Amino acid sequence: MLSYDVIDNINLRARQMCLHNKESALELAEQACKLAVQIEYHLGYAQGLLNHARALARDPYFEESIALMRHSLMLGEEHALHAHIVDSLLEIAAAYYCQCEYDLALQYWSYCLDLSLNLSDDHAYIQAQIGLGQIYYAHDDFVAALEHHKQAAEFVSKINNDQLCALLYINLGGDYLSLLEYDQALTILQQGLFYAKRANHLEYVSEALCLIGQVQWGLGKYQIARRNLLAALKLNLQLENQWGMAANYLALGKISLSRRDVQPAEAYLAQGLLHATLRSAANLIFQFELLMADLAELKGDFKLALAHFKRFHHGQQAVKSQLSPHKLQAMKMQLEIESARLENADLRRQRASQHKEIQRVERLASYDGLTGILNRRGLEEQGSELFQRQRQNQQSLSVLMIDVDHFKRVNDGCGHPVGDKVLRQIAALLKSGCRQDDLVGRYGGEEFVVLLPNHEGVAATEVGERLRSLVDAWIWSRIHPELNITISVGIASIVDDLSLEALLSRSDQCLYQAKQQGRNRVVV
Ligand code: GH3
Ligand code: MG
Ligand code: MG
Repeated sequence: MLSYDVIDNINLRARQMCLHNKESALELAEQACKLAVQIEYHLGYAQGLLNHARALARDPYFEESIALMRHSLMLGEEHALHAHIVDSLLEIAAAYYCQCEYDLALQYWSYCLDLSLNLSDDHAYIQAQIGLGQIYYAHDDFVAALEHHKQAAEFVSKINNDQLCALLYINLGGDYLSLLEYDQALTILQQGLFYAKRANHLEYVSEALCLIGQVQWGLGKYQIARRNLLAALKLNLQLENQWGMAANYLALGKISLSRRDVQPAEAYLAQGLLHATLRSAANLIFQFELLMADLAELKGDFKLALAHFKRFHHGQQAVKSQLSPHKLQAMKMQLEIESARLENADLRRQRASQHKEIQRVERLASYDGLTGILNRRGLEEQGSELFQRQRQNQQSLSVLMIDVDHFKRVNDGCGHPVGDKVLRQIAALLKSGCRQDDLVGRYGGEEFVVLLPNHEGVAATEVGERLRSLVDAWIWSRIHPELNITISVGIASIVDDLSLEALLSRSDQCLYQAKQQGRNRVVV
């Protein structure tokens, strides 16, 4: 039996594989989506999409990945899946951050911060605060970055998640390193390394090692610093982590330069710039340019140094133009964070409710209030589209016209409310006996229509027979003692009909014959 658990499990595995086994992650995510559709498991489907996006995010499929994430977010909003909304927001923010789209990243993390507080979701709160701090960090406002990361740290005792602890301590350590508070940085980064190892999160291990190396270099311990940086590099090479490699080469280049080791510096910087470019890491690229300017100067090539410096300046402007001038930045961002957070939450709330209202109205117009399945209008609209599609693709389409036998007697003998219950139960039985892409609707009164795409003549008869016996076999005394319900079914399949109406009319003729022949039967 297909259950939610099965799909949850597949999604869990997909998520774990996103990092190191993209192909399998994609496969599993797709499988989860397919199965979730079969049993209309909205969360399973939305999570499948998000995992698909996560797996893609690591490659140069940024646009596609973001589109999937947004779609997944929308599904979460549609079905009020709060935890999933939070997950999607965090993922989108992180994706934008990696693309240096700080403005958008800020909006999503801010919104997520709001939501996490409303939902008392400590994991999400910590992640949003880490993200917000990262934005300040990227703008060299290490004090503000530290503030956010400290706020996240205040919540850390509430969670029990090694991976998230690792991420937090790595970020905190990075802040202290940039503020030149080496002792503090070293203690915290070692904690980060501990959690990263315990979570077996190799990317975080390498990140922690890279930062620890830089701290040790700051403390004047060159040998051990180099060793840690090389260990980080080795890991990133294994992981094929372009961004990580670029960051390692940058640090190694910096060390070599400071020691005036021209040749290794040159090699490290060239390698690193290559990886940063491959990864389109704009925020790293301009840092390489600055070091290359220093290197050229060291070699006495002032013309080249100037060229690099210009590129550094240009790159820095491009990345940071989103929030400048630099000195005003901290204040401005604080303001922006507050207003973006409020505006965003408000806008989103409005949009979500508009969206829901439109959907509600559309549903009312196309669905039957009593049974919840398509009404005649919905059937005719969706049915016509299906009819055209099948005709164009020269695929088959069958119509089952279904009428409840002697239904008047039910109303007369047991009362109208019992009649209504019977109609509801029949709708449920018809739905359960059909496939996902079949259309099932209430055509009027006690008449139902089922449209079966891609069933050849015989198969349609089989479906008709299955539905008939489902109704016949159901224990109707559950609704009312002495109640027994049967249906008659007329079937027509697309031949050279020009319209859905023609097809419906032929199936109605067959239904008439089924009634004539004694009811509770299928006529083709
Ligand atoms: P047959 O086997 O020939 O189809 O007999 P029948 O009694 O089902 O046929 P008929 O079309 O004469 O009766 C249909 C009845 O369905 C009449 C109407 O009162 C009842 N009906 C139509 N819509 C509803 C509804 O929404 N609720 C209830 N309870 N009854 C309904
Ligand atoms: Mg009738
Ligand atoms: Mg009837």
